[in-house]
Amino acid sequence: MHNISYSRRKRTRKQTTTKSVNKTIDVNQYIHTGEQSPETATVYQNKYTFTEFPLHQKLQTLIAQKGYSRPSEIQDKSIIPILQGEDIIGIAGTGTGKTAAFLIPLIQQLLENKRHNHALIIAPTRELATQINEEFASLSKGLGLYSTVLIGGTSVFQTLNTLKRTNHVIIGTPGRLQDMNAQGAIDYSQFKVLVLDEFDRMLDMGFSREVQKINNQMTSKEQSLLFSATLDPAQEHLIREITNKPIVVKSATSTHRSSSIDQQVVYTEGKDKFQVLKSILNQPIDAKTILFCETKRHANQLLKKLINDSYAADAIHGNKSQNRRDQTLSSFKTGKINILIATDVIARGIDISDVELVINYQTPRNYADYVHRIGRTGRAGKTGRAITLID
Ligand code: AMP
Repeated sequence: MHNISYSRRKRTRKQTTTKSVNKTIDVNQYIHTGEQSPETATVYQNKYTFTEFPLHQKLQTLIAQKGYSRPSEIQDKSIIPILQGEDIIGIAGTGTGKTAAFLIPLIQQLLENKRHNHALIIAPTRELATQINEEFASLSKGLGLYSTVLIGGTSVFQTLNTLKRTNHVIIGTPGRLQDMNAQGAIDYSQFKVLVLDEFDRMLDMGFSREVQKINNQMTSKEQSLLFSATLDPAQEHLIREITNKPIVVKSATSTHRSSSIDQQVVYTEGKDKFQVLKSILNQPIDAKTILFCETKRHANQLLKKLINDSYAADAIHGNKSQNRRDQTLSSFKTGKINILIATDVIARGIDISDVELVINYQTPRNYADYVHRIGRTGRAGKTGRAITLID
């Protein structure tokens, strides 16, 4: 019954990723009701425990305080090579613990040698950059290490001031980093380590020139750490330029055992899609839900309809100011609203631990986006549900 494949309607908007837009998606991929999905079914056998890593005692304590009892697969495979100064290509998506996989060894390096402007971390989105900074703050609490986040939508004046302070780590999105560089506020030649997080996403968003320029100016760079959910042949040229004899490490498992996501498809053919959505939202009532739409316009339209029907909802997408995005995320985290409408801007990287339901009101462009979207639920050992509505 579900054995249908379909092609995406032609998009009228700028087609930057035609490759994936025209891809045929098999609906079967969206259905794993009650089963374990193949990529998460495996249980990874650790080689190390955290205490076996040559890490400073204070750092060990902070890791334990975060509640990390054993290294995730990507951490198990990357921490030692990074400490040994190797370049890494980590094939790992969100939810694998990749952030701590590079932050833990970076913090250890800084404890051995507290260099200013030691590491430059580039992330594709503001949210992800902010999240990396939060993870850095918690993993380096009380160690006298400082970081600054350079993202759009924040005060340039304030950012310029923070760049004058001591900073051991700078985390930024390519656009704001380049703005700061153009103003002479950041000198890439001082940094020893370059981290590129969600590299595939960065290229999808058209940042390859910026990344290349930044890399070229890092004349004292000693190490490059690159993390990407996928390894596309189109990335190869740039990866070769950035890295030096990299070790490729792959992670197939998540820190959250996301095998507990119940995935369903609901066909809305001939029915009012919005009515179908409401019937899903009404059972169970008030479940913390992320609703994915394809465009900002769709997200706004859906928000209007839900608010008209008295649902506690808000939308987050690229047209909202950083302040508004932060406010909306915080209202969702604290439970002021229980429905968050989102475009793919937040599909990757955002870590909200207790999302019970993900609804794809519009289908994702490809399977990778699907996996990222549904990965917002079933986190931190909890179970989750994902429902994809198909016209
Ligand atoms: P990331 O893939 O870096 O976005 O991490 C996903 C989530 O896993 C975050 O909530 C982290 O706090 C959490 N996490 C990272 N490392 C571990 C670990 N070793 N054990 C348990 N949770 C972890």
